[in-house]
Amino acid sequence: VVNNLDFVINDNEIFGIAGESGCGKTTTALSICHLLPKEGKVESGQILMEGIDYGTLSEEEIMKHRWEDVSIIFQGAMNAFNPVKKVGWQIAEACILHQGMSKEEAWKRAGDLFEMVGIARERVSQYPHEFSGGMKQRAMIAMALACSPKLIIGDEPTTALDVMIQAQILELLEKLRKELNMGMILITHDLSILSETCDKIAVMYAGKIAEMGTVDDIFNHPMHPYTQALLSAVPVPDPDVKMKRIILEGDIPSPANPPSGCKFHTRCKSCMEICKKEQPALCEYEPGHFVACHLYG
Ligand code: SF4
Repeated sequence: VVNNLDFVINDNEIFGIAGESGCGKTTTALSICHLLPKEGKVESGQILMEGIDYGTLSEEEIMKHRWEDVSIIFQGAMNAFNPVKKVGWQIAEACILHQGMSKEEAWKRAGDLFEMVGIARERVSQYPHEFSGGMKQRAMIAMALACSPKLIIGDEPTTALDVMIQAQILELLEKLRKELNMGMILITHDLSILSETCDKIAVMYAGKIAEMGTVDDIFNHPMHPYTQALLSAVPVPDPDVKMKRIILEGDIPSPANPPSGCKFHTRCKSCMEICKKEQPALCEYEPGHFVACHLYG
């Protein structure tokens, strides 16, 4: 489902992963956190967090690292909380379980976290149905921060929120990243979100990285035909700027039956004979700008 991914995230850096549904973005996030469904597994490679290979840790060790080193904000905050438990308590429980806090300390920590994400601390005693969508997403962020992780993964953290709330949540993530010096992976299919928030971006297609680079590389000098097509679909609000749309035919291939050679060749308008036979490697075309395409040799 996901193959040959290779990337590095530094402290205080936001790494964006873009691509259409089914390209492997969420599978990548779940693999990092050891949260793949039981029929899934990481067959080879390493996931290193400050030198610790996550692949060699036991389930028990992972439980500790999962919240203290890396935590995840799932998509769909609307359904993420238990509706019959107080929101603050659900956060406090994580502190008790993973950090050995007493009940009092954990409640205080939940209140502190609420304040950190812009929710009045008195609301820790409220239930999920008393929160708006934006507040639930803020509370989800508070929960992800409960054990002060070094890396936080936001898997479509603003999906289903209206544009104003979306902007507030992104601003909050940006602020927390700076204050807490965390690394962050932001997964979304919305390129405009990535352009505003990320330092580096990887564009994924059918379980592989098609192109990776800085925001400037990806938005101003896209090289891979798939990146170019994705960017041509981003609406430009200036009526004087005429964008040529690149319409892709067909769907993303099934991971169970991927095409030979370049996985994008069935939809690529620049496809050559070699593309049908040989998979292009991800090569560094210029410093920090990687592309997997035979057009570049
Ligand atoms: Fe298109 Fe070939 Fe490049 Fe794949 S390798 S993106 S098919 S030109």
